Amino acid sequence: MIVMKFGGTSVEDTRAIATAAEIVLSRIEERPVVVVSAMAGVTDSLLAMARAAASGRLGEALRVLRGLRRRHLAALYSPADESADVARQHVVARLDSLQDILRGVAALGELTPRTTDHILGTGELLSSRIVSAAFAALGLDAALVDARECIVTDATHTNAVPLFDWTTERLRRRLPPLLAGRQVPVMAGYIAATIDGVPTTLGRGGSDFSAAIVGAALNAKRIEIWTDVEGMMTTDPRLYPQAQRIEVIGFDEASELAYFGAKVLHPATLIPAVEKNIPIHVLNSRNPESAGTCIRARAPRSRTTFRAIAAKPGMKVVNIKSPRKLGANGFLRAVFESFERHGCAADLVSTSEVSVSVTLSSAHGIDPLLADLNKLGEVEAEDGKAIVCLVGKDIRGRVGIAASVFDTLAAANINVHMISQGASEINIGFVIEECDVPEAVRKLHQRFFEPEKQRPAPTLRAVRGGLRMPRCGPAGAAVEVG
Ligand code: ADP
Ligand code: ASP
Ligand code: MG
Repeated sequence: MIVMKFGGTSVEDTRAIATAAEIVLSRIEERPVVVVSAMAGVTDSLLAMARAAASGRLGEALRVLRGLRRRHLAALYSPADESADVARQHVVARLDSLQDILRGVAALGELTPRTTDHILGTGELLSSRIVSAAFAALGLDAALVDARECIVTDATHTNAVPLFDWTTERLRRRLPPLLAGRQVPVMAGYIAATIDGVPTTLGRGGSDFSAAIVGAALNAKRIEIWTDVEGMMTTDPRLYPQAQRIEVIGFDEASELAYFGAKVLHPATLIPAVEKNIPIHVLNSRNPESAGTCIRARAPRSRTTFRAIAAKPGMKVVNIKSPRKLGANGFLRAVFESFERHGCAADLVSTSEVSVSVTLSSAHGIDPLLADLNKLGEVEAEDGKAIVCLVGKDIRGRVGIAASVFDTLAAANINVHMISQGASEINIGFVIEECDVPEAVRKLHQRFFEPEKQRPAPTLRAVRGGLRMPRCGPAGAAVEVG
């Protein structure tokens, strides 16, 4: 069997869903299990409406909900069909219940992580219902499977950790009979539940992870991730459109890229795939014939020094200076114990005897952590930073590579705040201002991936890409641009 995961843009409307059905049909002999994300942008809208309701803006939340209602009803395939009618009733009931929850959140003025999961999971519950009904109307024998009854997690709401033994047991009980009956199971990605049935989610972008969990449980021949780009690219094509498709990449390199910001793959996706040695294919649902990228245990040597460049904006750098009284060992231990106590994962770390700098995602509230760290020494936290990471296992043992990375940045007048050559020796990472990311990526891509003559003339669009990235204002101040 194989697992086919369709991302948000691959199920964004009736046309995309019909294309997905054709793609599934083309692999029907391989016994696919289909995993779907919420329709593009829906999880963001759900989060926005939850936050609006919690801060007393119920009218705004309900306005967003009306938009979502229109969009989902429009995505229902051939409303005259009877199965679509059943699907419509489910969609309406789910949206009505969401409306009640939003009113409750507004009345209490509080949004707990548990309620957040309840609200965010609605996107995948709706899309899986709509997709399975459309597949059935288009002639596939689709069977909707409730992911909350199969994927079991702990209770870390909004970032739940799968309990693999329970999950594997349930998936093995639920899915093989459907496959044996030549049915196509359709499951929501991203959502799960605790052993007591309380809904959870696997963290943003987590549908890829769901697909890998299913693939590993059923020993899939491969896992296909259908998305809106040609595969895993040498950098984010929205950041730099000249990015090139990578044909084959190793698990280790893909894992570093995903961890350091290549959003095309949720970082945890590789864990079950590596364990069972299952190849992952990243494919473009807008161009299904394209070969995409194969991620597998062994990849041929890269023709370029690095395999790819990833960038992770939205980072915060926390600097902690020790008053020396703890000594270097005691100080480092106390700092990392604080991070652990507050559940904060550090991305890059650099240390000296008396100070430590650590990067963290700005999305996490870290006030309690900062209060704790303040007891150890002088603490400073700066937002608006980004990690850029160059990944390639052929850099191991090669001299002068780091020098040419930092020469390239210096020539572009880009200031580097922190540097780390990854412990696995397959990456070089550094921290810069968020607003410098497009220029840094462009210069590094030109230096390491493009022969002289093929370099494009710089244009404003190429430099800024299609991404919302703050532009550096005077004296390095960031200016948000739309
Ligand atoms: P989906 O909804 O299909 O899961 P995502 O938006 O989560 O899609 O991931 C696809 C996006 O990942 C692409 O549109 C692209 O902008 C971004 N991306 C970031 N880094 C890379 C990379 N190295 N290769 C390909 N895409 C990348
Ligand atoms: N819909 C979820 C999100 O936007 C999960 C996913 O798309 O993978 O984060
Ligand atoms: Mg995704």
